[in-house]
Amino acid sequence: MSGKSLYDIISTAQKLLERYPLCDHCLGRQFAKKGIEMTNKERGHAIKVFLNMKLYEEYQEGVVDKEYLRRIAINSGKPLSSLYEKIFGEKIAEAPCYICGDKLSEELYDQLAEKAAELLREVNAYRFLVGVSVPQDVILREIEVSTFSGLEYSESIKNEIKREVGKRILKKYGLEPDFEKPEAVVVIDYDTLNIRLEINPLLFEGRYWKRGRNISHTIWTTRDGVKLYPYSLQEFFNDRLKDVFEADEIIIHASGREDVDARMLGTGRPLVIEVKNPRFRYVDLDLINELLKGTLIEASVYGESSRTRIAYLKGEASKKKKLYKVLVMTEKPVDEQDLARIEEYFVEREIRQLTPLRILRRKKEHLRRRKVYKVKTRRLGDNVFEALIYCDGGLYVKELVHGDQGRTTPSISEILGTQAYPLELDVLAVEQI
Ligand SMILES: [Zn+2]
Repeated sequence: MSGKSLYDIISTAQKLLERYPLCDHCLGRQFAKKGIEMTNKERGHAIKVFLNMKLYEEYQEGVVDKEYLRRIAINSGKPLSSLYEKIFGEKIAEAPCYICGDKLSEELYDQLAEKAAELLREVNAYRFLVGVSVPQDVILREIEVSTFSGLEYSESIKNEIKREVGKRILKKYGLEPDFEKPEAVVVIDYDTLNIRLEINPLLFEGRYWKRGRNISHTIWTTRDGVKLYPYSLQEFFNDRLKDVFEADEIIIHASGREDVDARMLGTGRPLVIEVKNPRFRYVDLDLINELLKGTLIEASVYGESSRTRIAYLKGEASKKKKLYKVLVMTEKPVDEQDLARIEEYFVEREIRQLTPLRILRRKKEHLRRRKVYKVKTRRLGDNVFEALIYCDGGLYVKELVHGDQGRTTPSISEILGTQAYPLELDVLAVEQI
């Protein structure tokens, strides 16, 4: 540091302290980029020591008077206040820091770090991030001071607290700060000095199979709170995983969903499993897979996932092609020729579907266009056949069969010339994504 720039620092500090009372932390922060390997407190104190020497000399030379020294001493505290007391034999009352009101201290940072480490340990989180909420009035006072000093290299109070507390958590408790993927965020309320933890959820990539019918996705209840279906995927994942992670809740984000009475077989359906507020995070994938084995419902996970992946599964990916198997019953008998006609007709065929009557209560009316790429049939009896339908995701397959009173067109009923009913529906494949 050149003599010139040191002189500039001292003059700027003097100008600041003429006007604002500032503690070592808050003064040091104004010069944050000056002086490597120094805390703001050390820097602020060092600047005051230099200023002390400068003003003592100037007082002896008669450049500054008692009144001036008194003002600076009130605003900067030690060592200037001691100097004043020594020269004039008068006690002075130091003014509280204009920005922090003397709230900041090494002891405060030690206490915050200790409490934070305790909270992190309680939930077995080792990688953390510190966040601080600072009230508007403190921020405004801070901006006022740095605008007055005209310095471009000041640090914010928020940043100092984050850094100082983070540093101590690492040094004393061995927990690692992590800016990319923290397991938990320590949130400090500057006003009350309360600390709370925001535990980040765990996200797993996987697939599920549903081998039974009448299993809903989430718990469906009537207005009186009676469950409509005995079991749901949501309950399955909570039953199997909640305890092992000591979590609040397990949420599933699937790429589309099948009807309650449809099975999900074959490839299974992609999903992301979200573990909310886990107090225990280190469960290995083999154990999770063991826990997710089942007869009616089964799932497997194969790695970590992300929020971006959820957005993709719920958006883009849900339109990927699907393969269904439907058992169809017809009002009039159908023969092999009728079925051949179906196979010929439904090739790369666009289907127009007004929102199905069965869900019109829940959804607004809307015209959906999806394609059927191919249909394969197998006759099982005079009035029963099986159809494999390969189509776009989002196509209402039951409506494709019965026609939904003309709201879905063309439909299998329409092409056969007799009313057809879907008896059983299975999803066999969800295109690999
Ligand atoms: Zn302060």
